[in-house]
Amino acid sequence: MKLALPTGTLLVLVGPSGSGKSTFAGRHFAPELVLSSDAFRSRVAGDEADQSATGQAFALLHAALEERLAAGRLTVVDATSVQGWARARLLDAARRHRRPSAVVALALPLAVCLARNAARADRRVPPDVVRRQHRAMRISLTSLPDEGFDLVAVLADEAAVAAVEIASDAGGSGS
Ligand code: GDP
Ligand code: MG
Repeated sequence: MKLALPTGTLLVLVGPSGSGKSTFAGRHFAPELVLSSDAFRSRVAGDEADQSATGQAFALLHAALEERLAAGRLTVVDATSVQGWARARLLDAARRHRRPSAVVALALPLAVCLARNAARADRRVPPDVVRRQHRAMRISLTSLPDEGFDLVAVLADEAAVAAVEIASDAGGSGS
């Protein structure tokens, strides 16, 4: 699947922990384009798993997003964004700055997310958290096409994820 991201696009990744969001972002985009909730948590608390830092981490993420959108820079948000309100907040920012918006949902099977989460060396979350996030994502998939994003791509398996090519004028590796 070829995804064309116009200048200044906000790309929101959606997926539970272990779905491969950070890997996807790292494969397709230069690090400075990516706003990661884990990275902001780590900056706030010195620990990317510290959930008590979440509020402050997202405040910083949104502040950075505002700056990037104002400047018209392609920006990727690497956070689970499995809940409608979380995506609505991000979309609202893109709209206020009149920037294009896109969603890529890493809608891999729960078993894949659980297995990857269990195998990972870095930040492992409790399996029940992955299950809960996965359920929220599944629910989101029905509403996603109507939420107002300019582009919605749902990647349902590893082959679909591997086949993605990004066309953009900033940091895209595909095409
Ligand atoms: P995130 O929690 O959604 O950011 O997921 P990550 O990108 O951190 O990936 C979670 C784990 O799955 C890591 O150990 C990755 O190396 C692995 N992973 C991510 N994407 C792929 C993939 O396409 N194929 C395989 N085999 N492993 C992957
Ligand atoms: Mg990640």
